[in-house]
Amino acid sequence: MHSQPLDYVVVLDFEATCDDKNPPVPQEIIEFPSILVNMKTLEPEDEFSTFVRPVHHPILTDFCKELTSITQEQVDTAPTFSEVFEQYMAWLRSHGLPVTPEEEGPSYAILLCGDWDFRIMLPTQLETCEPAFDYVPHPFRQWINVKRIFERWYGKRKVPGMPGMLRALGLKLTGRHHRGIDDCRNITKIVQALATRGLSFDITSELSVRRYPPVDLSITFNGDTQTLTLGKRSMSSLLGSTSSLFRREVVQVQFPDGAEVTEADLPDLRNGTSLNALGKE
Ligand code: AMP
Ligand code: MG
Ligand code: MG
Repeated sequence: MHSQPLDYVVVLDFEATCDDKNPPVPQEIIEFPSILVNMKTLEPEDEFSTFVRPVHHPILTDFCKELTSITQEQVDTAPTFSEVFEQYMAWLRSHGLPVTPEEEGPSYAILLCGDWDFRIMLPTQLETCEPAFDYVPHPFRQWINVKRIFERWYGKRKVPGMPGMLRALGLKLTGRHHRGIDDCRNITKIVQALATRGLSFDITSELSVRRYPPVDLSITFNGDTQTLTLGKRSMSSLLGSTSSLFRREVVQVQFPDGAEVTEADLPDLRNGTSLNALGKE
């Protein structure tokens, strides 16, 4: 077996409100499960498993209950997303895994089957939960899509879904497909099988800053201070919205210390950040 670049991989698979055609808007997470896998031994060391109570559409559709096997009572008695998200971060920390860049500890990344969980579902959830998040915690900014690792072994053929990957690796699907914790256990088997075949698990995907939740900024221009909700975190949106707000062409935005706000600063802007706008001379 080859050595792995990361000490741990944390397998995660959300289940969410849904219907046979379009999902409810906003779609909400109803199960938040994970498995901590030690990449030196390939052994699962712990599981995190909880249901989540949806607040915008608290009643699950028959389709959703049938698909996931999750019952109305299981979500009715569950904590809300914000509470679960806190518990999840505490769980990562309880295993010594850093959740901010300042913390030290073993190297790890969250692993998904696909990109949907973090590219679509998590941004929606962060933006619509109460209170809404104004940032994306670091463990959720980049991840491993197991399909990209599987692809390196499978060659040019189209990567199948989880049941197809299991089959291709000679493994059986155990438990109930579309129950989050069972999906995590099956995805873990795929990780073990690929690692045993010499595949290396490294980051494959990252969240575009454009998908980060909106942030409320306090912007001053010529002594006039206004609040701006930046819906889309791009430099063109920041300059464009600031120009509209003050009805003057704004060419640069600076932090109070005079440093220019650039693309690289956008992920870390938080509610209440004070900025200064500069107009065209
Ligand atoms: P999965 O991890 O594949 O079990 O799916 C995650 C979530 O995507 C589910 O909880 C549903 O909200 C949604 N989903 C998955 N498959 C379907 C489907 N066939 N029809 C509608 N929604 C689905
Ligand atoms: Mg999934
Ligand atoms: Mg699933």
